[in-house]
Amino acid sequence: MNIAFIGLGNMGAPMARNLIAAGHSVTGFDTMAAPEGITTAATAAEAAAGADVVITMLPNGAILRAVADQVIPAMKPGAVLCDCSTVDVDSAKAVAQQAEAAGLGALDAPVSGGVGGATAGTLTFMVGGTDAAFATVKPLFDIMGQKAVHCGAAGAGQSAKICNNMILGVTMIATCEAFALADKLGLDRQKMFDVVSTSSGYSWTMNAYTPAPGIGATSPADNGYKPGFAAELMLKDLRLSQQAAESADADTPMGQLATALYTQFVEAEDGRGMDFSAMLPRFEKRGRG
Ligand code: NAD
Repeated sequence: MNIAFIGLGNMGAPMARNLIAAGHSVTGFDTMAAPEGITTAATAAEAAAGADVVITMLPNGAILRAVADQVIPAMKPGAVLCDCSTVDVDSAKAVAQQAEAAGLGALDAPVSGGVGGATAGTLTFMVGGTDAAFATVKPLFDIMGQKAVHCGAAGAGQSAKICNNMILGVTMIATCEAFALADKLGLDRQKMFDVVSTSSGYSWTMNAYTPAPGIGATSPADNGYKPGFAAELMLKDLRLSQQAAESADADTPMGQLATALYTQFVEAEDGRGMDFSAMLPRFEKRGRG
């Protein structure tokens, strides 16, 4: 396939390289990055002209909307615009509508798996859009990832992503505050893990991403809380969850509280640049007041 890849940052560059390695013809574009091994065009529109699929991997919804304005008029009829960025549900739906009105296919296909998954080609894609557009891009998802779930119509991919990550943020906080409480109660962390990881408090954050150094799964906690999944990226996703909850009039008190805690951690404490599991040392230092 002829593929345009717009946004060649930490995630986009390795994803584009995996497509090239699989034999696809990729033309990239980025306003800043010029990664090695990827042919680039002078503008996003030039990269998109003649492409069967245009993939975007951009920082946020406002930038996605601006790039969509540039590439949609340049795309050939029947081509598919596939956005893999994490953006707000409203932007995802608006861009899909704009693409479909121009006779194009459109998918929102955010990922989980991080830079490691992008490099190894083991991302999970959560996809919203039509069956036809999904079928066109599925072979590319299979190269860049290990799993692609077609979640529903436009916006469903972003919806799935932020619901998942809202659970993740809330659960990480619960796991960390429980470890800090256990410490203060004089409970050994290993015993706490042995019980909870096999009891009803178990979770992905406890069992697979244990936030306590030297206990349970190997995780960023064992590497000085170097990310992994940075606290500021968790905050981005939590904010998107609350934006969507506002827009859909959904009551999400735990998501709201998790957003407030990660905001404080990233903006007022020392959370920026740390893994999101560094909530544990944060709680360790605090009392109730
Ligand atoms: P990044 O900042 O490394 O890359 C974004 C790239 O977009 C940059 O190279 C930037 O120069 C480029 N860009 C900005 N404006 C542009 C424009 N108008 N035209 C063309 N290029 C433009 O970010 P990233 O870590 O690669 O993340 C990309 C997306 O993936 C984000 O939405 C992020 O939330 C999501 N995501 C990231 C991770 C992760 O672990 N990094 C995990 C899952 C999802």
